[in-house]
Amino acid sequence: MTWRIDCDVHNAVPDISALFAYLPTRWSDYCVEHGVDSLAPNYYPPNMAFTAKPEARTGEAEPGSDAAVVGKQVLDEGEIDIAILNCLYAIQPIHNEDWAVAMARAVNDWQAAHWLEVDNRFRASIVVPTQSPERAAEEIHRAAENRGFVQVLLLAFSEMPLGRRCYWPIFQAAAENGLPVGVHPGIAGANPLLPTGWPSYCIEDYAAASGAMQSQLVSLVCEGAFQKYATLKVVMLESGVSWLPSLMWRLDKNWKGLRREIPWVNEPPSTVIRDHVRFTVAPFDGPERADEVLRLVDQMGSTELLLYASDYPHWHHRDAETSLLRHLSSEERAKVTGGNAAELYRLDADQVVR
Ligand code: ZN
Repeated sequence: MTWRIDCDVHNAVPDISALFAYLPTRWSDYCVEHGVDSLAPNYYPPNMAFTAKPEARTGEAEPGSDAAVVGKQVLDEGEIDIAILNCLYAIQPIHNEDWAVAMARAVNDWQAAHWLEVDNRFRASIVVPTQSPERAAEEIHRAAENRGFVQVLLLAFSEMPLGRRCYWPIFQAAAENGLPVGVHPGIAGANPLLPTGWPSYCIEDYAAASGAMQSQLVSLVCEGAFQKYATLKVVMLESGVSWLPSLMWRLDKNWKGLRREIPWVNEPPSTVIRDHVRFTVAPFDGPERADEVLRLVDQMGSTELLLYASDYPHWHHRDAETSLLRHLSSEERAKVTGGNAAELYRLDADQVVR
């Protein structure tokens, strides 16, 4: 069977009151009494063109907030068999750990009821309170009982590098449940968007986001997360791929001289990355010419590292079809558009209703 799987679709909480049914009264009262009417992240300014494709703007509703509209536009019109939902609700920046735990749980229960139950072509990522990795792990175990959840979602601009050992309860829980961990650009702590400080403009954020993703990948490899949890898979979402060959070269080169420092990394970092890490192709930030695209893919090592994504409803990428897929053989296209994701997320063909 030839799959078409979209690995980065953003569903949005329409209004914080949509979560009240899934929150203890203490916390729904807290939201009302404190005038908290939304935790929608502001790193996609609502009226900017790239925040939503024109067709995703339907009336007053927040783009991505209506499961029927997303189902029609992404699944039906996009001829997609399965869409992986990554809900970017700003829970990780909350300083109150108890509130963050309650909100993450509510978002996951809301996703289960309003998305997974509504259309069996949706799968979702588990939103976790990274303020407490132990309680995040508890939420992973709880939510993973619903097979519709196929991934754990972390944000790239975290308080500390994600490979650090304090985060390992999250990776352990993900590995125990057979769930990949997706890392997506987004603010999860007090650190600025750029390593050198806060930028002035949105364009700086978008152009430089891959820097944080590269730092997270280096941290995950060097801290030994993939040796500790041999089945752990990580998906770098919306981070581009053109930087990967040079990063792997630098890691391998320096590992040869400095491997005593990280003795648990017992094979070249590029091998670890190819075995454990996948990358979505929205954006595919490669060159234009076919021969140059194929050379980049060759330098990465394989099309098996790549996962198709649209990043719906966001609208700031070249389409994967024109930027990448048209240059690939039919066999390689099939891997990127769905085969790789089906294997990664352990999707069975009989789960799909066309
Ligand atoms: Zn995205």
